[in-house]
Amino acid sequence: MISFKNQLQKELADFGLDYSEGTLEKLLEYAGYVLEENKNQNLTRIVEPEAVVTRHLVDSLVLQKWFPSLEAGSLLIDLGTGGGFPGVPLAITWPGVQVVLVDSERKKVDFLQRAARELALANVTAVHARAEELGRDDDYREQADLVVARSVAKLPVLLEYSLPLVKIGGRFCSYKGEGVESEVAESDKALKVLGGRLDSLLAYTLSSGDTHHLVVFLKATQTPHIYPRRPGIPQKRPLS
Ligand code: SAH
Repeated sequence: MISFKNQLQKELADFGLDYSEGTLEKLLEYAGYVLEENKNQNLTRIVEPEAVVTRHLVDSLVLQKWFPSLEAGSLLIDLGTGGGFPGVPLAITWPGVQVVLVDSERKKVDFLQRAARELALANVTAVHARAEELGRDDDYREQADLVVARSVAKLPVLLEYSLPLVKIGGRFCSYKGEGVESEVAESDKALKVLGGRLDSLLAYTLSSGDTHHLVVFLKATQTPHIYPRRPGIPQKRPLS
């Protein structure tokens, strides 16, 4: 993957993002691990290195165009991280931020733990849990400064997974593709019930030509203790 350093550097620069050589190398090394592990388990359908750079690494990091830094010691949770996106690239580029990667599939979490060890990512923890369980765990509930999620569920469901974990004044950022407006429009009830508010809807275009979105929500008031509901219920009976 290392031969894709120029591509990565250039595509990040197009978003005003600039990282050290060592950081770029670490990002590519991680992408190489994912492609290698993809032979053992299904982590990604994107296997061409150029596309992995754009659609996994750059797409994960675009958030930093709008959030250039988080305070040292902040807690970031990536829900439904799968092969570690966007959480691992964010952890590599924000070494002062504590990053918790969450997935309900044990095998993925085992891979993430191995990769974090091999890359010496001291700020990364991988947790095997469902979002609905984590949101009821005092160690995590209303503790996160920022929660992120990409390709996990529709917004009304995702808000029930994420907002209970965000501290008041913190944010949840959902990475979305096309057609996000209808999902946002369906989120009013969930936001009202869970104590959130739409902060911003940001659009960006990747070098592949795809336009993606970041939907950012603010946690305004405490989430009532009955949320999140039991595992599976948010999906089965969305708050919309
Ligand atoms: N965020 C990654 C992976 C998306 S696939 C990316 O964008 O590439 C969705 C992942 O979410 C899967 O790995 C699945 O196991 C996980 N997932 C789905 N529902 C979940 C839940 N309720 N709690 C935790 N993980 C969940």
